[in-house]
Amino acid sequence: AKKGGGNTFRFYNEGMNTSSVERLNLETRLRHAVDNGELLLYYQPQVNLHSGEIIGAEALIRWQHPEMGLVSPLKFIPLAEETGLIFPIGEWVMRTACAQIKAWQDGGMMTPPVAVNLSAHQFRQRHLVKMTTGVLLDSGIDGRYLELEMTESAMMEDTDRVIRVLRELKEAGMTISIDDFGTGYSSLSYLKQFAIDKLKVDQSFVREITRDPKDAAIVVAIITMAHSLGLNVIAEGVETEGQLEYLRSHGCDEMQGYFFSRPVPVGDFEQMLRSGR
Ligand code: C2E
Ligand code: CA
Ligand code: CA
Ligand code: CA
Repeated sequence: AKKGGGNTFRFYNEGMNTSSVERLNLETRLRHAVDNGELLLYYQPQVNLHSGEIIGAEALIRWQHPEMGLVSPLKFIPLAEETGLIFPIGEWVMRTACAQIKAWQDGGMMTPPVAVNLSAHQFRQRHLVKMTTGVLLDSGIDGRYLELEMTESAMMEDTDRVIRVLRELKEAGMTISIDDFGTGYSSLSYLKQFAIDKLKVDQSFVREITRDPKDAAIVVAIITMAHSLGLNVIAEGVETEGQLEYLRSHGCDEMQGYFFSRPVPVGDFEQMLRSGR
């Protein structure tokens, strides 16, 4: 239990441990983060493995707290999901990414599509399509500049609904990718039923690709399967030239990872877009 600090912790009952107090603190602070303008997006470039061009970016959320510093999404996204804060935060992410794309276009920049992460909770939301198309309309950008990344597990619940929702998102021009592909417990049959454009090979397979023949075999199988289904493949977590060469020589289309660039603040990303690197 906390000691000192006067009456500050009187509210919490004895059984409550420090970590639940911390959690409650974090939750209270997260509630204000959107309104206080403490959230921001970093951008990580996605690169065509054959031309070397930047063909996209993934927007990754960051929380810049005045005292806690830069908080990782791994720490606050699960909390946002448990508390329902993921809905306003998820919409903020989408609005911010679309407004950024619009600003680039208004400034005469050639803008690649930007991918945003959609949590399973958001995918379950009844008004997802309405919200998403509303954000696009408000921002004035074309749907083809917005890509939605979702995990397999988000898609496995009510298949008929998923098929319908994905079709509606696609009709509004958006691109759909499956994030962390290969790590979910799902049936592959959804790949032919769902309106999907792209598979993101999970970084856990990429990490050992040049050392572990089993990981390499899985990645090659994913590339082959994706291509025969007419899907694009991007590898995540590419950190070395060896990994890059392996992926390129086995026909992978795109890559994203520290080898090319970490996720960076928007100004740095703009500079990369301008210079092509
Ligand atoms: P993710 O969607 O799988 O995002 C990829 C993560 O891998 C990012 O971590 C990125 O910084 C990191 N990464 C990229 N390249 C490399 C590399 O070469 N090596 C290694 N080791 N890591 C690399 P980050 O930004 O900390 O995000 C973590 C997770 O938080 C994301 O995983 C995603 O699940 C979630 N997340 C981030 N932003 C959002 C968001 O706006 N909404 C939602 N719902 N989730 C988000
Ligand atoms: Ca992602
Ligand atoms: Ca991922
Ligand atoms: Ca992940």
